Amino acid sequence: MFDLSGHVALVTGGNGGLGLAMAKGLAKAGASIAIWGRDDAKNASACTELREMGADAEAFVCDVTNAEACQSAFAATTKNFGHVDSCFANAGGSGPMGMLHQLDQHAWKSVLDLNLNSVVNTFQPAIGHMLEQQKGGKLIVMSSAAALVGTPLSAGYATTKAAVVGLIRSLALELGQAGIQANAILPGYIETEMSARTPQTFKDACKRRSASGQHGTLEDMEGVAVFLASPESRFMTGQCLVLDGGHSIHP
Ligand code: NDP
Repeated sequence: MFDLSGHVALVTGGNGGLGLAMAKGLAKAGASIAIWGRDDAKNASACTELREMGADAEAFVCDVTNAEACQSAFAATTKNFGHVDSCFANAGGSGPMGMLHQLDQHAWKSVLDLNLNSVVNTFQPAIGHMLEQQKGGKLIVMSSAAALVGTPLSAGYATTKAAVVGLIRSLALELGQAGIQANAILPGYIETEMSARTPQTFKDACKRRSASGQHGTLEDMEGVAVFLASPESRFMTGQCLVLDGGHSIHP
């Protein structure tokens, strides 16, 4: 079970944080890994880590907020690996902080670009490719427990993370007959470059709301990624896999 030999996984934002953690899990299961990120040095260092684990790994510079860049990076990815079996639209970020009524239009639109339009930019070429290959495929989007509980002073973040759940549910129905599944991962707080920038009060609140009293760890992402990429998840589509230690069910 959970053998990903011969499987090619694309992970956007795979050069750090949760993306790299998932890439490592996928590599351990035998998958070849394509990572996309903007920073060449971070891409190269993540690739080295994955190759040292024995994985066939390649990185492509891509800003996922740019649709044309995603089309080009996807073409380069399939040219290198021959095909893509699973596509993890993970790249994203917290976006601007502040009360909604005080945010300017540019700030509001920037978070839609970063966490929502980026996913569409990534999935469009992936879906085209998967349909052409006629071998099915796996679309996985990185949402957040914030989609369930909201994020005061960062409404755009929770809004986009909830929006991608609507997206994967639609894609699950639209593409199910073609053997393409679409699912979302909703993690709670896990320490990364992004989450490290949040206020200490937020970090403490996340711990209090976790049933175990602990934050999640990068290792917690590995098995989830492998399960969603593997044939063992074949009957699961349009679903949210909530990985938040109970944060979202806290009374
Ligand atoms: P990090 O900031 O640690 O990593 C973000 C990754 O995304 C980096 O690899 C970065 O690489 C890449 N990235 C950012 N913007 C772009 C862009 N425009 N184009 C291409 N790549 C980009 O964040 P996390 O690992 O914490 O977050 C990853 C995802 O997980 C996000 O979608 C986040 O919302 C979600 N998440 C995180 C949680 C947490 O607690 N950490 C909880 C719930 C969800 P580079 O700089 O090279 O572009």
